[in-house]
Order: sequence, then structure tokens, then C-alpha cells
Amino acid sequence: MATTPTAHPTAPRLPLRRVTVKTVRRITPRTIRVTLGAPSLAGAPLAGPDRQVKLYFPRPGRSEPVLPAPDPDGDVMRWYAAYAAIPEERRPWMRSYTLRSHDPAAATVDVDFLLHGDGDDGPATRWARGARAGDVLGMFGPSDLFAPPVDPASGDWALLVADACALPALATLVAALPPGHRALAFVHVADTAEEQPLPTQGRLTTHWLHGDASPEDAVRAADFPAGRPYAWLAGEAGTVRALRRHLVEERGVDRRAIDFAGYWRRKLTQDDAPTEEDLAEARERLASLRDDA
Ligand SMILES: Cc1cc2nc3c(=O)[nH]c(=O)nc-3n(C[C@H](O)[C@H](O)[C@H](O)COP(=O)(O)OP(=O)(O)OC[C@H]3O[C@@H](n4cnc5c(N)ncnc54)[C@H](O)[C@@H]3O)c2cc1C
Repeated sequence: MATTPTAHPTAPRLPLRRVTVKTVRRITPRTIRVTLGAPSLAGAPLAGPDRQVKLYFPRPGRSEPVLPAPDPDGDVMRWYAAYAAIPEERRPWMRSYTLRSHDPAAATVDVDFLLHGDGDDGPATRWARGARAGDVLGMFGPSDLFAPPVDPASGDWALLVADACALPALATLVAALPPGHRALAFVHVADTAEEQPLPTQGRLTTHWLHGDASPEDAVRAADFPAGRPYAWLAGEAGTVRALRRHLVEERGVDRRAIDFAGYWRRKLTQDDAPTEEDLAEARERLASLRDDA
């Protein structure tokens, strides 16, 4: 039966929460920071580099997303199957977002929503534009089930490439760099008003790219520091694929040293079926996981 998610008293904990909007702030012209709270966010720290969550957004006419309750055994796959079985017109939209920060004392997390504009607002972006204190979302994660932790200091230096919607994640990677660790970041945003401070103890050089500038061209033109890089690439799927190909085929970077994720696809929503290229990317990801094992 579909109900709002609450922890079953005897269930092993599924990382599923009902979160309530505490505050909404515009931190740049195109970015809204939403602080979400839930009693279960108190305690152990959840934030860290690249901690991803799935957010569930209510359908029109609903004040909150109606999600299946976890089974007593807390089985994730069965929970997801129950979610997917909700008829589409009633199924809450599911979108991926990043925990920008976590305040265990206040039992809150911050999530930064990029406002795409240009007629490209999907349900998550529309929700963020109208978000008010007291609004309710579902949140699944962070969880190693769909996003194992990453270590931006696992190479001799780090190459970090993000577009505007991956900037929240990049900021968490930069914040996790150990003192003096060398890192090159390429961040593509609309204009200077979208640039954000990137506090770090690492030795970071940030290249801000604006408007029509191409991240691929910028990385191609870059002089890389000596040593073995760790690379983290996130943003529009085609750009991420091209960057990864460049690093592996032309720069000789070990494919196992590259974490990459297409965060969005042009003209496609996160509900649309995977393209042939998405499937090829998923196969490559699986292959590199097997190489790691
Ligand atoms: C692991 C992960 C973490 C992410 N973290 C964040 C985050 O912290 N903050 C954040 O803002 N986004 C983040 N994203 C990206 C976000 O999930 C997508 O942008 C998502 O499509 C937004 O949902 P929507 O309902 O607004 O748009 P959808 O319904 O999915 O798409 C509607 C339209 O918007 C276009 N579109 C989608 N995303 C963008 C974009 N970024 N720029 C321009 N056009 C776009 C699509 O091509 C489509 O035409 C993350 C994605 C992943 C996979």
C-alpha cells in the first residue's frame, strides 16, 4: 500500500526519509539553496565528497510525495519495485541531487538546485523555484548502494571537471582535498555571477568557463601537472563522455582512475529511457568496476 515513508519500527534502516524544507535562499541568480530537515538527520555525519541522494517530488495537487513504506526486512530492491509499480501519473518524480552539506546538530542538509531556464525546467527545478518552508520531499540516501564513496586524493593530483549542476558536488570534492594536494578544476557556468567560493586546504587552481566555452577544449589545452591523476567528471552526458575519451585515449589516464557521471541529457528528462550511448556508458562503468575487483 502506498503511504508516506516512515521507518518501520522493526525494519533495518532503509536510508529513506521524509524531509521538510526549513529555509530557501537564492545563493546565485541561478542557484537556490534549500535546507531540508528531518529528525533522523541528527547524529552521524552524512556529507562528504560527492554524496548523492534521490529526491522524490510530489505530483501536482499533492502536498507531499506518496511513497511505499519500507518492508519490515528493509529490502531495497523490493522497495524500489513497489515505487516503480505506482502508476506513472501518481508516481512521485525521482531526481538525483547532491548533499552540499550536512549539519548533524541542526538535523539538516543543504541541497543546491540549479535553475536551468531556457524552457528547460523539469519537475525538480519547478519545485525548487516555488519551494517554501514546510514543503515536504522524500529523500533516499546517501547510500553506497548507488554511489560508493570517492576519494579525490587517490592520485598524485586531481582533475575535477563540472558544469553548473555538478558544481555542488565538485565543491564537496574540493573541500575534501588534503592540505597541499594539487588539483585542477574546470567549472562551466553561465557567467561570473554563477561562480562560487570553493574553500579547500588543497592547492587548487580553478578555471571558470562561461557561456559557450567548451570544457573539452579547455581540458585539451591544459598543461597537466606531473604524476598520476585522479579524474572526476560530471555534467552533460555527451560532454562527460568526450572528456573521458580524451583522458583515456589521448592523455593515457588509467580508466580506473576516472570517476565519471552524466548528470543530465540534452532534451531528455531523467524519466526518459537510456539511449544507446547511455547503455554503452553503463557497460563501461561495469567493466571498470570489474577491473577494480
Ligand atoms: C548524481 C547526480 C547528482 C546531481 N546533483 C545535482 C545538484 O546537486 N544540483 C543540481 O541542480 N542538479 C544536480 N544533478 C542534475 C539533476 O539531477 C538534473 O539536472 C535533473 O534532470 C533535474 O531534474 P528536472 O526535473 O529539473 O529536469 P528533467 O525533467 O530531468 O529534464 C527537463 C529538461 O531539462 C533539461 N535539463 C536537465 N538538467 C539540466 C541542466 N543541468 N542544465 C540544462 N538543462 C537541463 C533536460 O535536458 C530536459 O530537457 C545531479 C545529477 C546526478 C546524476
